[in-house]
Amino acid sequence: MYAEGGIVDLERLALSHGQARALDLEVGLDPIEVGSQVYSPAGGGGEARLDVSRTTTGFALRLRFHSELTGPCVRCLEDAATNLEIDAREIDQPAADDEELRSPYVSDGDLDLDRWANDALVLALPSQPLCRPDCAGLCPVCGESLNDANPEEHRHLKGSDPRMAKLRELKLEE
Ligand SMILES: [Zn+2]
Ligand SMILES: [Zn+2]
Repeated sequence: MYAEGGIVDLERLALSHGQARALDLEVGLDPIEVGSQVYSPAGGGGEARLDVSRTTTGFALRLRFHSELTGPCVRCLEDAATNLEIDAREIDQPAADDEELRSPYVSDGDLDLDRWANDALVLALPSQPLCRPDCAGLCPVCGESLNDANPEEHRHLKGSDPRMAKLRELKLEE
Protein backbone atom coordinates (compact mmCIF):
# COMPACT_ATOMS: atom_id res chain seq x y z
CA MET A 1 0.00 0.00 0.00
CA TYR A 2 1.29 3.44 -0.90
CA ALA A 3 -1.32 5.26 1.21
CA GLU A 4 -2.21 4.66 4.83
CA GLY A 5 -3.66 6.80 7.58
CA GLY A 6 -3.64 9.95 5.46
CA ILE A 7 0.03 9.53 4.54
CA VAL A 8 1.10 8.79 0.96
CA ASP A 9 4.44 7.10 0.39
CA LEU A 10 5.54 8.90 -2.77
CA GLU A 11 8.66 6.76 -3.22
CA ARG A 12 6.60 3.60 -3.26
CA LEU A 13 4.80 4.81 -6.39
CA ALA A 14 8.16 4.09 -8.08
CA LEU A 15 7.76 6.80 -10.69
CA SER A 16 10.70 7.51 -12.94
CA HIS A 17 11.56 11.07 -13.99
CA GLY A 18 8.83 12.63 -16.06
CA GLN A 19 6.26 10.02 -15.07
CA ALA A 20 2.97 10.95 -13.46
CA ARG A 21 0.19 9.11 -11.76
CA ALA A 22 -3.33 10.07 -10.69
CA LEU A 23 -4.55 8.59 -7.43
CA ASP A 24 -8.05 8.56 -6.01
CA LEU A 25 -7.76 8.68 -2.24
CA GLU A 26 -9.86 9.35 0.81
CA VAL A 27 -9.06 12.47 2.81
CA GLY A 28 -10.12 13.01 6.41
CA LEU A 29 -11.34 16.56 7.04
CA ASP A 30 -11.72 18.22 10.43
CA PRO A 31 -14.26 20.86 11.48
CA ILE A 32 -12.90 24.40 11.16
CA GLU A 33 -13.25 26.85 14.02
CA VAL A 34 -13.60 30.52 13.17
CA GLY A 35 -13.91 32.60 16.29
CA SER A 36 -16.55 30.75 18.29
CA GLN A 37 -18.28 29.28 15.22
CA VAL A 38 -17.63 25.80 13.82
CA TYR A 39 -17.86 24.80 10.16
CA SER A 40 -18.09 21.04 9.62
CA PRO A 41 -17.18 19.26 6.39
CA ALA A 42 -19.91 16.88 5.19
CA GLY A 43 -19.09 13.28 5.99
CA GLY A 44 -15.85 14.25 7.74
CA GLY A 45 -14.02 13.99 4.42
CA GLY A 46 -14.35 12.24 1.12
CA GLU A 47 -12.73 11.31 -2.11
CA ALA A 48 -9.85 13.36 -3.47
CA ARG A 49 -7.75 13.25 -6.61
CA LEU A 50 -4.01 13.44 -6.12
CA ASP A 51 -1.77 13.92 -9.15
CA VAL A 52 1.84 13.02 -8.53
CA SER A 53 4.49 13.91 -11.11
CA ARG A 54 8.10 12.98 -10.70
CA THR A 55 10.39 15.79 -11.75
CA THR A 56 14.14 15.52 -12.19
CA THR A 57 14.69 16.80 -8.64
CA GLY A 58 11.56 15.82 -6.74
CA PHE A 59 7.79 15.83 -7.02
CA ALA A 60 5.07 18.12 -8.33
CA LEU A 61 1.75 17.50 -6.60
CA ARG A 62 -1.80 18.58 -7.23
CA LEU A 63 -4.71 17.90 -4.90
CA ARG A 64 -8.34 18.35 -5.84
CA PHE A 65 -11.50 17.67 -3.90
CA HIS A 66 -14.92 19.01 -3.15
CA SER A 67 -16.34 19.66 0.29
CA GLU A 68 -19.54 21.10 1.67
CA LEU A 69 -19.14 22.82 5.02
CA THR A 70 -22.05 23.49 7.30
CA GLY A 71 -21.95 26.27 9.87
CA PRO A 72 -23.67 29.49 10.83
CA CYS A 73 -24.17 32.35 8.38
CA VAL A 74 -22.35 35.37 9.85
CA ARG A 75 -25.32 37.65 9.18
CA CYS A 76 -28.42 35.68 10.14
CA LEU A 77 -26.82 32.85 12.18
CA GLU A 78 -28.90 30.22 10.33
CA ASP A 79 -27.04 27.08 9.28
CA ALA A 80 -25.47 27.70 5.91
CA ALA A 81 -23.84 25.31 3.46
CA THR A 82 -20.63 26.51 1.84
CA ASN A 83 -19.45 24.51 -1.17
CA LEU A 84 -15.74 24.56 -1.74
CA GLU A 85 -13.76 23.27 -4.72
CA ILE A 86 -10.18 22.75 -3.66
CA ASP A 87 -7.38 22.78 -6.21
CA ALA A 88 -4.01 23.01 -4.48
CA ARG A 89 -0.47 22.49 -5.74
CA GLU A 90 2.80 21.73 -4.05
CA ILE A 91 6.33 21.28 -5.29
CA ASP A 92 8.90 19.32 -3.39
CA GLN A 93 12.55 19.34 -4.33
CA PRO A 94 14.33 17.92 -1.30
CA ALA A 95 17.78 19.00 -2.45
CA ALA A 96 16.80 22.62 -3.10
CA ASP A 97 18.20 25.38 -0.88
CA ASP A 98 15.14 27.50 -1.58
CA GLU A 99 12.40 27.01 1.02
CA GLU A 100 9.84 27.75 -1.68
CA LEU A 101 10.78 24.56 -3.47
CA ARG A 102 10.22 22.33 -0.48
CA SER A 103 6.78 21.29 0.57
CA PRO A 104 5.92 21.49 4.27
CA TYR A 105 3.74 18.41 3.72
CA VAL A 106 6.47 16.11 2.41
CA SER A 107 9.16 14.59 4.53
CA ASP A 108 11.41 11.72 3.49
CA GLY A 109 9.14 10.98 0.56
CA ASP A 110 6.02 10.76 2.73
CA LEU A 111 3.20 13.13 1.86
CA ASP A 112 0.95 14.16 4.75
CA LEU A 113 -2.16 14.24 2.60
CA ASP A 114 -4.68 14.90 5.38
CA ARG A 115 -2.76 17.86 6.81
CA TRP A 116 -2.43 19.37 3.35
CA ALA A 117 -6.13 18.80 2.61
CA ASN A 118 -7.16 20.40 5.91
CA ASP A 119 -4.90 23.42 5.44
CA ALA A 120 -6.21 23.89 1.90
CA LEU A 121 -9.77 23.76 3.20
CA VAL A 122 -9.07 26.41 5.86
CA LEU A 123 -7.53 28.68 3.20
CA ALA A 124 -10.54 28.24 0.92
CA LEU A 125 -13.19 28.94 3.56
CA PRO A 126 -14.51 32.50 3.13
CA SER A 127 -13.77 34.73 6.12
CA GLN A 128 -17.49 35.60 6.26
CA PRO A 129 -19.55 32.55 5.33
CA LEU A 130 -23.07 33.51 4.24
CA CYS A 131 -26.23 31.44 3.72
CA ARG A 132 -26.59 33.28 0.40
CA PRO A 133 -24.77 36.27 -1.11
CA ASP A 134 -27.67 38.66 -0.47
CA CYS A 135 -28.53 37.49 3.04
CA ALA A 136 -30.51 40.31 4.65
CA GLY A 137 -29.32 39.46 8.15
CA LEU A 138 -31.14 40.14 11.38
CA CYS A 139 -33.28 43.15 12.17
CA PRO A 140 -31.15 45.41 14.39
CA VAL A 141 -34.22 46.38 16.40
CA CYS A 142 -36.02 43.10 17.12
CA GLY A 143 -33.46 40.46 16.04
CA GLU A 144 -35.83 38.67 13.66
CA SER A 145 -34.33 37.25 10.46
CA LEU A 146 -35.11 39.63 7.63
CA ASN A 147 -34.75 36.87 5.03
CA ASP A 148 -38.25 35.61 5.83
CA ALA A 149 -39.77 39.00 6.55
CA ASN A 150 -41.62 41.11 4.05
CA PRO A 151 -39.63 44.37 4.00
CA GLU A 152 -42.83 46.37 3.49
CA GLU A 153 -44.37 44.93 6.63
CA HIS A 154 -41.28 44.57 8.75
CA ARG A 155 -40.68 48.10 9.88
CA HIS A 156 -40.20 49.77 13.16
CA LEU A 157 -41.70 53.17 12.70
CA LYS A 158 -41.09 55.71 15.36
CA GLY A 159 -44.10 55.52 17.59
CA SER A 160 -45.09 52.01 16.55
CA ASP A 161 -42.24 50.48 18.51
CA PRO A 162 -43.18 50.21 22.17
CA ARG A 163 -39.65 51.06 23.25
CA MET A 164 -39.61 54.22 21.15
CA ALA A 165 -42.97 55.22 22.59
CA LYS A 166 -41.58 54.74 26.08
CA LEU A 167 -38.64 56.98 25.23
CA ARG A 168 -40.96 59.71 24.03
CA GLU A 169 -42.98 59.45 27.19
CA LEU A 170 -39.87 59.95 29.23
CA LYS A 171 -38.98 63.01 27.19
CA LEU A 172 -42.42 64.51 27.73
CA GLU A 173 -42.12 64.08 31.46
CA GLU A 174 -38.90 66.01 31.65
ZN1 LIG B 1 -27.79 34.40 6.34
ZN1 LIG C 1 -37.50 44.06 13.57
